Amino acid sequence: MSDIIRRDPRAEWIARNRLHPLHAAMQSAQGGETRWMGPNGVVRKNPHAVGFIGPNGVKRIDRSGGQQGTGGKRSSAPEVVQLPLVTVEQPAFFIAVVPDMVGGRLSSHDRDLLGLARKLAGSDGAVLAVVFGEHKESAFDTAGIDRLLQVEGNEYDGYAPEQRVLALRSANSQFAPRHWLLPDSRSGGGELGRRLAASLGERPATRVWQAEGERCVGRAGAGQQDLHRELPRLILAAAECAEPVSETRHEARAVELDSSVARNIPRIEDLGPVAVDPAQIPMAEAEFILSGGNGVKDWDLFHRAAVALGATEGASRVAVDDGHMPRARQVGATGTWVTARVYLAVGISGAIQHLQGIGSCDKVVAINLDPGCDMIKRADLSVIGDSTAILKALMALAEAHRNGAARDAA
Ligand SMILES: Cc1cc2nc3c(=O)[nH]c(=O)nc-3n(C[C@H](O)[C@H](O)[C@H](O)COP(=O)(O)OP(=O)(O)OC[C@H]3O[C@@H](n4cnc5c(N)ncnc54)[C@H](O)[C@@H]3O)c2cc1C
Repeated sequence: MSDIIRRDPRAEWIARNRLHPLHAAMQSAQGGETRWMGPNGVVRKNPHAVGFIGPNGVKRIDRSGGQQGTGGKRSSAPEVVQLPLVTVEQPAFFIAVVPDMVGGRLSSHDRDLLGLARKLAGSDGAVLAVVFGEHKESAFDTAGIDRLLQVEGNEYDGYAPEQRVLALRSANSQFAPRHWLLPDSRSGGGELGRRLAASLGERPATRVWQAEGERCVGRAGAGQQDLHRELPRLILAAAECAEPVSETRHEARAVELDSSVARNIPRIEDLGPVAVDPAQIPMAEAEFILSGGNGVKDWDLFHRAAVALGATEGASRVAVDDGHMPRARQVGATGTWVTARVYLAVGISGAIQHLQGIGSCDKVVAINLDPGCDMIKRADLSVIGDSTAILKALMALAEAHRNGAARDAA
């Protein structure tokens, strides 16, 4: 066995978060160790891991030195917390979900939708996810999926909404889902859902942010009003429509279509994605943000790094107040709330007002001199060091990567 210390950011986050339902379990999973080496080489101690719970429920500490840690056991690797498996053998009905799978993985919007699907499925129904083409996702089970229908074929690659609608119609005939749920997003779900609705001749509820019992609430009037209506069969839901599944594991059992899907005579030719200038993307929609704070010492270098990495620029309030970045680039409680898949924070301490603005980001990477700052605690990956040196190294790596790719193509 390798002695390399492997970090599990999710487990660490749960262990820090006292309100998380798995907090106690995670504490005891790590509790076997009262001292361990942190990622930056500093020895950490867990004062709560000392002692044991006596038969009458009172915590006891044996100061003789004969006992250390909760169970007295020592393991080099933290135990993996296994969520309880929920199976639905004979589903009374299906709730079908078509996740966007941006980049081949479930997005946070997809997970919210699956959370809503689980709520609608209750204990009798099963959540059926319909996924097109190849994917890179390995956590369908913990996202709440009971049945997984993977529809494969070149005809579904790229932008192929007409062909996808045909496949969804086949799934509709076979599984007769009680509800269809699609993300009301610009990543495909919004359009696919409307096309499916037109094809099935059903009226969908759009931009739904709440569904309770037989009623749902959706945004209307340019986001200024709420529309209350009966819950239809087809629901196009907004992000944060429900809490994602976090406490159960599901089978994600593979299912197939009984009959082959009719081939569509394509009326749309997909010419591939068009390159856009990341600087022109509104921050709230940017997928990759390079954000600078008071710890950025060379702003010219920061701008060049953003171009080299193809990132949209963001900033902390201090960077904006100091005149290094325009006000429109401020991230946080009094700036923009961003939802990037990757948020790279350079020299930002992680004040609560800033962290509020990045709460929905998938992965946070921090570059900072201070290993104890709050941004490092929040980050999934941290680099401790000087921002100028690290930005230069990143740019060199990006250039080497591009040159390598260009050589391979030649
Ligand atoms: C009502 C209110 C609303 C606010 N709203 C917002 C908001 O919307 N957004 C926001 O961002 N802030 C907001 N703030 C301000 C917030 O409280 C913080 O003051 C601010 O976020 C700090 O910015 P910073 O992290 O860039 O600077 P600092 O707190 O000064 O942190 C600088 C960081 O850079 C690191 N560093 C220093 N030198 C280097 C180096 N050479 N290399 C690498 N790292 C280095 C330091 O270790 C430190 O962690 C608000 C405050 C108030 C009171």
